[in-house]
Amino acid sequence: MKNFDLGNLLRENIKRMTAYSSARDEFKDASAEMIFIDANENPFDTGLNRYPDPQQSKVKQELSKLKEIPVSQILLGNGSDEVLDLIFRAFCEPKEDAVIALPPTYGMYKVLAATNDVELINIPLTASFQPNTSEILSKQNPNTKLLFLCSPNNPTSNSFEAKKIETLIQNFDGIVVIDEAYIDFSKEESWVRRINEFPNLIVTQTLSKAYGLAGIRLGICYASDEIISVLNKIKPPYNVNQLTQDAALKALLDQDRVKGEIQLIIEERVKLSKALTEIGIVKKIHPSDANFLLVEVDDANKRYDQLIRMGIVVRNRSNQLLCDNCLRFTIGTAKENRELVNALKSL
Ligand SMILES: *Cc1c(COP(=O)(O)O)cnc(C)c1O
Repeated sequence: MKNFDLGNLLRENIKRMTAYSSARDEFKDASAEMIFIDANENPFDTGLNRYPDPQQSKVKQELSKLKEIPVSQILLGNGSDEVLDLIFRAFCEPKEDAVIALPPTYGMYKVLAATNDVELINIPLTASFQPNTSEILSKQNPNTKLLFLCSPNNPTSNSFEAKKIETLIQNFDGIVVIDEAYIDFSKEESWVRRINEFPNLIVTQTLSKAYGLAGIRLGICYASDEIISVLNKIKPPYNVNQLTQDAALKALLDQDRVKGEIQLIIEERVKLSKALTEIGIVKKIHPSDANFLLVEVDDANKRYDQLIRMGIVVRNRSNQLLCDNCLRFTIGTAKENRELVNALKSL
């Protein structure tokens, strides 16, 4: 990150382009009294006949208060998946550039690298599921534009050590993307509060997990003004629909519900983890900072099939690096977790 210059990392075509300017961009001062015949919408009110706010100002204002970061440092997308794809498209030249991921980790980095025709360099986590910092830094070159750090990591459920993350941000010459999809369940602090220290840092979050809104698809990206302006320029103008904006705003304003549910899920995580220690087929329960447990069993494929037959769907992660015979259990309701424990006991 020495002598950081965003211009050196961005693709040339992205630097050159200007954003599409939508009707809603050009005239924003929407007072109900005005006549809107600028966007070829249907004039009859269905509650949804107007295009949504392309800048999602109300949602961002609420996030801004909550996370104590200016609106200009927030970008929203159709799930984190869209946000991550925008980051690829801004920085990675197809067939030329590369990104680094640390398996076992979230599968979308690999999918997005493939769809963007960008090389994926895999640098496995250590046996204790931490980033191998020296190996990562030795593999970087002028084409390794992005480094994905998923913390807490899916599927290993642990957070990466803050010191290791900081070393990577400070010494990686490309952009470091910290995926904080599970941060609300973690004892670690979010890196959003440190965005302004690091011009090469992007943090992503989502309403899909702690907020209980996977169905609306809302992903969030925090970064410098400079990075956010570039992503804004290339995002589809109406990428976050009105129904999503309304539901997101409502959830953000209802922190009591969200905090209460997070608390319950964490309590259930502790309970489930304890109950699992008393089950014979369970070999290891990895410490979790997320809303799921990675659990090593005697024979993952067999137990996975047996659970399905009992009506319980878990995630079989046994084909992932360092995850031999591991199943991933999302923390359910107290009743669902009891049923999982009873089912495992009966095997
Ligand atoms: C679930 C998950 C997400 C969420 O993606 P959305 O597109 O926002 O639903 C992002 N990153 C990781 C690591 C996840 O496990």
